[in-house]
Amino acid sequence: MRKKIAVLPGDGIGKEVIQGAIDVLQTVGRYYHHEFEFQYGAIGGEAIDQFESPLPKETIDLCRQSDAVLLGAVGGPKWDRNEAHLRPEKGLLAIRKELDLFANLRPVQSYSSLQETSPFKGDHLEGVDFLIVRELTGGLYFGKPSERLRDNGEEAVVDTLFYKRKEMERIIDTAFQLAKKRNKKVTSVDKANVLQSSKLWRDVAEEVATKYPDVELEHMLVDNAAMQLIAKPQQFDVIVTENMFGDILSDEAAMLSGSLGMLPSASLSSNGLHLYEPAHGSAPDIAGKQIANPIAMILSAAMMLRHSFQLDEEAGAIEKAVKHVLEAGKRTKDLTYQNRFVRTNEMVEEIKEALADDFAILNIMEAYA
Ligand code: NAD
Repeated sequence: MRKKIAVLPGDGIGKEVIQGAIDVLQTVGRYYHHEFEFQYGAIGGEAIDQFESPLPKETIDLCRQSDAVLLGAVGGPKWDRNEAHLRPEKGLLAIRKELDLFANLRPVQSYSSLQETSPFKGDHLEGVDFLIVRELTGGLYFGKPSERLRDNGEEAVVDTLFYKRKEMERIIDTAFQLAKKRNKKVTSVDKANVLQSSKLWRDVAEEVATKYPDVELEHMLVDNAAMQLIAKPQQFDVIVTENMFGDILSDEAAMLSGSLGMLPSASLSSNGLHLYEPAHGSAPDIAGKQIANPIAMILSAAMMLRHSFQLDEEAGAIEKAVKHVLEAGKRTKDLTYQNRFVRTNEMVEEIKEALADDFAILNIMEAYA
């Protein structure tokens, strides 16, 4: 298989972790005879410095000519005081709009090997394995008006939560399709006791559910969902929710995996060009120190193999290699209280070695089959 991948490293640790994902993909390509061609584009702060735009046209064109997009992270103090249109995060919102990336998928899993650094006791996280499906192109982050204003001479502010029924339908439908391939349960999270938008969301969820009689639908208010994620995370299979609720709940859920550095994500479009990025940001506090955890980015690359290229076996091989390395006790700084930890590139090397070992075992088994 030959595939073109647009690589947008972005800022801070984005640059460090994306190199790890490329190394791992090249290793997988060698073992499984795939050719991945990587072409680089600018986004975020780096793009502001080079092109005076957080998402230059060159980058959009590059993405459109590719089979999938890998993104690191954007942002940093250097650009914090910029005007709104020259902020790195604008690049993120813009690429979601440009590529029509409407569904953000964040799988959340607990790793028993990371128990010692988990804030949760004993076997509280045993068997946690769910998927958050967050709407990405509507809601409060995009609604207009969104501005500071004066109301009867007093300083005031307005943000707008706007959704079209179709936008709700397609994200909820995506969640049902994904649940069909998992444990057949969708938890739709809203605030229907207060918000009009949530009342429509709930109606739409009920309607979509009629198309999937083998999938169970439950509704949960977002405040309760925030509590249930911590109290009994095993109850969830697929959670579907609007943009801002999903933003907050998915960061909360990151702690169930042990660290923000463990959480991958995929952003799907309806035209087949999808984007993959870690759930974390550019972490300016640790950027340049080679101590970032590259696993979220590497697992995002595995999601790309599965969702964009239908390479399930190869994606599974990466996920297995990550598990092996963690079980062997290898930890980046965010995963340990000890002073001994592996650096970003050492973690990548460990994962590549685990891939090589697994591949060798697979070959021996095939030879004897
Ligand atoms: P962050 O995710 O960058 O960092 C939060 C904390 O987690 C920090 O202490 C950081 O050191 C740690 N962390 C994050 N990823 C890690 C990793 N892979 N390994 C080890 N530790 C890791 O969030 P923040 O500090 O709120 O934001 C920093 C910048 O990133 C801001 O400019 C923000 O706007 C931007 N941001 C970008 C994205 C994105 O590009 N998708 C997402 C969130 C925040």
